[in-house]
Amino acid sequence: MYGWILVSADNDSTMLPPERAGGATCPHCGRKVADVPVDPGFQLRERGFDLSETEEGYWIASQEFKDFCDILPFSNLEFVPLPNDPGFYWFRVHSVAEYQPPADSVHHDRFCRSCHAFGAVEGFLEPSGRSKALPEGIHRSEFEYGQGLRQRPLMLVGEKTGISLNKRRFRGVYLSPLAPGRQPGVGPGALLVKAS
Ligand SMILES: [Zn+2]
Repeated sequence: MYGWILVSADNDSTMLPPERAGGATCPHCGRKVADVPVDPGFQLRERGFDLSETEEGYWIASQEFKDFCDILPFSNLEFVPLPNDPGFYWFRVHSVAEYQPPADSVHHDRFCRSCHAFGAVEGFLEPSGRSKALPEGIHRSEFEYGQGLRQRPLMLVGEKTGISLNKRRFRGVYLSPLAPGRQPGVGPGALLVKAS
């Protein structure tokens, strides 16, 4: 196996309300082009998950998830405390691992001349076309999917790290295996990520 794609739960929260989005997003297509500090007014609306994401793709982790990650090897992870939600953190993944979905399964649309990227990247993210296993630990992809403000990288997990994560049964953590030769849309590892 090559590793896992980690999809986290939706926490129904907003990190970039319109008045804060200005410096963080492209004015033409709405993509995030810069990280901004945690919104001092941010409040986590759904607190029942160990890992979840805001509507802009900011990952939010619980204390338990942080404790697990603190002993992980080979990762470059950062946990920024949330001022209004003690025990929860903005989970930043700085290490990049190689992942490229098959060209025929992902559709790129709305090229933006301002930020030189596609405003919409949608389709099936299928585990094929890879040539080597992911490193252990937790990483993110250079590749980003989704539309505008919701465009975000994938979270990528090494094989053994994913098995450890599965054993902990964290709430809001969904793992889809990356393996060679899987047919699009078929089998337990098929992952449909609908960009919206
Ligand atoms: Zn743009």
